[in-house]
Amino acid sequence: MRNIKWFYWLLAAGLLSAQTSDAPRRLVARSLGETPIFDDLRELCDGIGGRPTGSPAASRAIEWGARKFQAAGLAPVLERFTIPDLWLPVSSEAAAIAPQPFPIRLAAAPFTASTKGAIEAAMVDAGEGSEADFAKLGTRAKGAIALIHSKEMKTFDDLFAEYVRNSSLIAAARKAGVAALLLESTRPRGLLYRHPLSFDGSLVPIPAAIVSREHAARLARLAEKGEVRVRLNLLNKIGGEYESQNVVAEIRGRERPEEVVLIGAHLDSWDLGTGAEDNGVNAALVLDVARGFKQLGLVPRRTVRFVLFTGEEQGMWGSRRYVERHRAELDKIAATMTFDTGSGRLTGFYLNGREDLRAPVNRALGAVSGLAATDHLIDAIDGTDNFDFLLSGVPNLVGIQDPIPYLPDYHAESDTFDRVNQREEKATLAVASALLWAFAENPERLKRQTRTEVEKLVRDTRLDEQMKAFGQWEDFQSGRRGLFP
Ligand SMILES: [Zn+2]
Repeated sequence: MRNIKWFYWLLAAGLLSAQTSDAPRRLVARSLGETPIFDDLRELCDGIGGRPTGSPAASRAIEWGARKFQAAGLAPVLERFTIPDLWLPVSSEAAAIAPQPFPIRLAAAPFTASTKGAIEAAMVDAGEGSEADFAKLGTRAKGAIALIHSKEMKTFDDLFAEYVRNSSLIAAARKAGVAALLLESTRPRGLLYRHPLSFDGSLVPIPAAIVSREHAARLARLAEKGEVRVRLNLLNKIGGEYESQNVVAEIRGRERPEEVVLIGAHLDSWDLGTGAEDNGVNAALVLDVARGFKQLGLVPRRTVRFVLFTGEEQGMWGSRRYVERHRAELDKIAATMTFDTGSGRLTGFYLNGREDLRAPVNRALGAVSGLAATDHLIDAIDGTDNFDFLLSGVPNLVGIQDPIPYLPDYHAESDTFDRVNQREEKATLAVASALLWAFAENPERLKRQTRTEVEKLVRDTRLDEQMKAFGQWEDFQSGRRGLFP
């Protein structure tokens, strides 16, 4: 009797160790084979569509995400949180009325004011929108609709420059007393996109919209010759505090269930397109990683947690609130990984200022060395859902991906299902699954940083400059975000 018990025990232990040592290979094989990841993405993009946080579509997407986890055999929970200022687009119309009438193609800029009915005013060309540009216009800027020129966006650096310009542009425009801003689209052939003018979702008191690059150029040429008058009607739904939810599911660890490795992607998107590259494809990836663990019956040493964040586009509110809510257990979060640059080829990970992560990440990637995602960068990323984990000292990784197809369609009408590079996304699915497994299974555990270490990291990576430009510095200094000083 005793011997038989031992026999079964040894058999069970043997099966378990065979199962666990084989897990990365099985996860990779499953990922590269047929999985429902793109069926999910189609449902999300075509069936639900663009889903700005606070909209009915976002609520449908949240329910959809929970249903998907449930169907995969997990028990999702919805974690409610609040966001300070609601902003949703309602309608936008504009036309030139003199010297020649023609309709102007435009899209309201998130977190800017409505015009409160149609306004009609002279249009002035305010160059790049610097203080000097507005000063040159003198009193002509007051009460006018100001056209702001932009360089064509070709790289992430260009995109970053477009964001960084916002706060000085708004300050100069307010000082000059303009009635509204027309921002030239950085992308040609009529392409429009949502370009938020504040990084934390707080309301900018000037109505503003992105204008088709070709229409902006025509308006500028006409303004060289004489007076141009424009009619503008921007209606946005603007409200106070509102609620959203993160969709959270997990597989409890078999030995150290209190230790957690988290994989996350944001489920919300802007509305002009259907949020495929940003970021439906990676929300679908998180779901499919969870499905893979369940299908293969894999239970790692630590808990693996899957999070679909919302409120990301409004200022990373979902992950920020997640970190606040789970503050007491952050010591137990062994690592987080975030994917938020579409489906371009995964080349490595942002180490977010932590050189100490390089070797463990490479060891963990051993199982997928054929997919070669080891060109890591030390840069610290501000602008997606790793950020509040970073400020709290939690080891955090962000996937580095080729900017194509993500960048040209970023926040634009053209961010749709057909843009996705399915082949590369399958490779990313394999890497993400294997990496999540390794971090949850390997005995070695990544270290949480102290406040002093995070402060040094922030200076060394010059993250402080970005945080100041994005209005996040005060919150970090005071301890409202990140570890307490
Ligand atoms: Zn995104």
